[in-house]
Amino acid sequence: MISTYHRPQTLEEALTLLTQPNTVPLGGGTLLSQPTTDSVQAVDLQALGLDFLTKKGNPSTGSGQALEIGATCTLQSLLENENCPETLKTAIKLEAPINIRNSATVAGTLVASDGRSPFATALLAMDAKISIASEQSSMIGLGEFLPLRPRGLITAITIPLNTKFAFEFVSRTPADKPIICAALNQWASGRTRLTLGGYGKSPMLAMDGTEAEGIESAARNAYHEANDEWASANYRMDVAAVLAKRCLEGV
Ligand SMILES: Cc1cc2nc3c(=O)[nH]c(=O)nc-3n(C[C@H](O)[C@H](O)[C@H](O)COP(=O)(O)OP(=O)(O)OC[C@H]3O[C@@H](n4cnc5c(N)ncnc54)[C@H](O)[C@@H]3O)c2cc1C
Repeated sequence: MISTYHRPQTLEEALTLLTQPNTVPLGGGTLLSQPTTDSVQAVDLQALGLDFLTKKGNPSTGSGQALEIGATCTLQSLLENENCPETLKTAIKLEAPINIRNSATVAGTLVASDGRSPFATALLAMDAKISIASEQSSMIGLGEFLPLRPRGLITAITIPLNTKFAFEFVSRTPADKPIICAALNQWASGRTRLTLGGYGKSPMLAMDGTEAEGIESAARNAYHEANDEWASANYRMDVAAVLAKRCLEGV
């Protein structure tokens, strides 16, 4: 339950408010506004101008392009942006129906995501970078961020654009969140990164190597304990191998 609402006009003001106890950032509010017994102070980010989508050179490679996605950009505006990779759109559509996509922000979605999140699985394969503002601003990989979910205000998420990306999934119906999904990103250098989603607390990195050899067994191994009420581990291992192979063929 939100007990106090703030709408700061500057990033500095927001960061100061967030140092108070029991105070959290409010993105689209689709999760935070749900009734709970805990009461929190919410710092609404909507006036901070963090809803940008900027195509830029990629300083980490010195060559390729990257898309910087402002933290409060909604899932739907990312989906509709001309620079959004086509295959990423599939993962965004599976994340939530349109009414939620119109409000839910990219940062809020990643913070609230579990292992079933197609969006987090896709961004983990892309080795997305999370910009966090605090006294000392930092940028960390999504792979580092997800297991810890450190406190702090996410200001932007950066994904590479000059790569080949594939996403495959199996779900009960074509619009349901997947029981299992695989995302594969391949850089011009040959670096190949495979992630799996559909199970657990966070999506899983199955492979990150200079070549794609052994990708099917990497997928099988990653999900050898992926047993829950939705599917058995044996099923997920078999399907993960098939989806990984399809992703590789897709790029
Ligand atoms: C009825 C309903 C129930 C739902 N239940 C769940 C559920 O139980 N579990 C689940 O995973 N999803 C749930 N969702 C899905 C939820 O809508 C998505 O996770 C959504 O994408 C969250 O995005 P948001 O911008 O609305 O986040 P918000 O609701 O604004 O915030 C979600 C979390 O992210 C944090 N956050 C937001 N922006 C930032 C930022 N810039 N920096 C740092 N932290 C930030 C918030 O403090 C909060 O902890 C539910 C949706 C609905 C409509």
